[in-house]
Amino acid sequence: MSTKLVPSLCPYCAVGCGMYLVVEKDKAIGIEYMTDHPACEGALCPKGNAVLEVLNHEERLKYPMKKVGEEFVRISWEEALDLAAYGLARNIKKHGPKSLGFLASSRCNNEENYLMQKLSRLLGSPHVDNCARLCHSPTVVGLGAVLGTGAMTNNLIDLQNSKCIFAIGTNFTEAHPIVSRWAQKAKDNGAMVIVADPRITSTSWMADLHLRINPGSDIDLLRGMMKVIVDEGLADKKFIEERTEGFAELQANLRDYSPEKAAELTGVPAGQIVQAARAYARSCASSLLYSMGITQHVCGTDNVKACATLALICGQIGRPGAGVWPMRGQNNVQGNCDMGGMAELYPGYRRASDPKSVEFFKAAWNAKDLPLGPGLTSTEMTDAALQGSIKALYIIGEDPIVCDANINKTKAALESLDFLVVQEIFMTATARMADLVLPAAAWAEKDGSYTSMERRVQWIDRAVAPAGEAKEGLWIINEIGKRMGLDLKGGSAADVLEEINRTVPQYGGMTRERISKVGGLRWPCPDEGHPGTDILHRERFSTPNGKARIASVENRPAGEQTCSEYPMLLSTGRIVVHYNSGSMTRRCPSLLERDFELYVDINPKDAAELKVHHGDMVKVKTLRGETQARARVTEKVKPGMAFMPFHWQGTNIITSDALDPVAKIPEYKMAACRIEAMA
Ligand code: SF4
Repeated sequence: MSTKLVPSLCPYCAVGCGMYLVVEKDKAIGIEYMTDHPACEGALCPKGNAVLEVLNHEERLKYPMKKVGEEFVRISWEEALDLAAYGLARNIKKHGPKSLGFLASSRCNNEENYLMQKLSRLLGSPHVDNCARLCHSPTVVGLGAVLGTGAMTNNLIDLQNSKCIFAIGTNFTEAHPIVSRWAQKAKDNGAMVIVADPRITSTSWMADLHLRINPGSDIDLLRGMMKVIVDEGLADKKFIEERTEGFAELQANLRDYSPEKAAELTGVPAGQIVQAARAYARSCASSLLYSMGITQHVCGTDNVKACATLALICGQIGRPGAGVWPMRGQNNVQGNCDMGGMAELYPGYRRASDPKSVEFFKAAWNAKDLPLGPGLTSTEMTDAALQGSIKALYIIGEDPIVCDANINKTKAALESLDFLVVQEIFMTATARMADLVLPAAAWAEKDGSYTSMERRVQWIDRAVAPAGEAKEGLWIINEIGKRMGLDLKGGSAADVLEEINRTVPQYGGMTRERISKVGGLRWPCPDEGHPGTDILHRERFSTPNGKARIASVENRPAGEQTCSEYPMLLSTGRIVVHYNSGSMTRRCPSLLERDFELYVDINPKDAAELKVHHGDMVKVKTLRGETQARARVTEKVKPGMAFMPFHWQGTNIITSDALDPVAKIPEYKMAACRIEAMA
């Protein structure tokens, strides 16, 4: 029997690990490690090792279905595509194009996402968004505002060159496990590791210094460190003068602040703040890593700006081992944002509010008109559906009924729609609410490129046949477009990539041939002679005048405060064996074996007061509702704090949907809650 090895990628997180699929008779029967892959060197975490359990799963959606009454009925592709086009067109006719909303997918490839936003905008709706709204929209806008580019400045492997790793609001050893290889290499080479996190995590275990901050006090801590750095003359004056603006305002902003004040606000002893500040500023190459512990707050954008500002005043950016590493979530969330799958941005980060962006794409797409100005974000589309202005949604590979904050509200919003079409690989909670379900090919069943968190763009060829009658997302979007009178030019992923090469400057030189090589290329890569870019901002920042804009920010209160009725603070996050909504990993036996049910971490002191024992089922209640979870009594959380992983639907029933006013991200990390023992 002949077998072949087909290069592929892990479909889970944004580390973008490579692997080979062992293919026999158009079916994947095994994986082999890709030891020459530059981000993972052959390593995979438990999720990556279990990819075949999801690819070959018997519950994969295999044919299109429409809802009749409460049941789904199998239909042909012809009928499905006609229904999709009719459902969208009907609402355009009745309510105008802005009654449509589109959710692109950070699990899908660049070409599909490019085509999705093109469909939305050519139909006249600016309302296209993606799940970056729920994880790293503050990175796009916050890092973009300060550095000019909202992306990781260095590459993952470069972490090993750091002499001081400062990780704030990221449990990367669980959320992005392969990153810990490079962090550990740095540590083995003598780097100091500082972790700021309210919880004890597997990442804090590797820290030389764990700053156990109060939840929501990140800006207070960062300002405390900056104050020490400025007062002790540790700031990099030359770098500040030559490459930044806004330092005088920052000095004024910090004038009356002190490490002692920071200690009061953060709960971290002043001595530790001083120690962290000195270590970060003095090392010859410091890296700053952050993730959703920074972004998922009402002040998420300011949190990101404060992180970038700390790096700037120390000159810890634009060199090997020195930079800002936002740890993005899904496998192609970076690419989706690059492709314009965001309400405020056309492809290539051209602002939707800039008439020049519209003119550029009118010419590129041969379009008479395109929407000017930002559309509604995914979080705003929920409210708009409830208010009746969004009537139809086309969702690809996203599961808002598990992932949104306050999902009862999202559920009500989806119920209020006239038409919901969901394109998926499994019957998710969101798909169950749809009028029409379109079965999609999974990552290994289609051609296309993905962009990892380190701006690495990698092309993979179709390795195996799609499950049942499932089709490539590109084909589905293109066919719907055709039925609505549009020529999206989405005949193949290669065709769409060629268009991307012309319209997205960062991808100008990323031909299929070049990005098919192991490890692909890293953007910006403006032309075919360009080798790609390892480290951003070496000489200048991507702002109009080339200077970074130092931000002077101050903390703001959380969206909701604890009170006598809800006296504890609930935070949420990832665990190593599950991913996002769990629609894939909760179907994998080898992963479920390790963690199979929703749990809540409670400090022993609280557990004693609540008369809860380790292993008891408890109710967790917030203003938005209640859920049940298994109690884990542990010192990992501080007294007064609770933690739940977000891979089960129960968690986001109760999370807070208070939004950051700029990035519109919900404050998943701060919900006032009450825990009750169950009889
Ligand atoms: Fe690599 Fe992330 Fe996949 Fe794990 S989940 S194998 S870290 S890409």
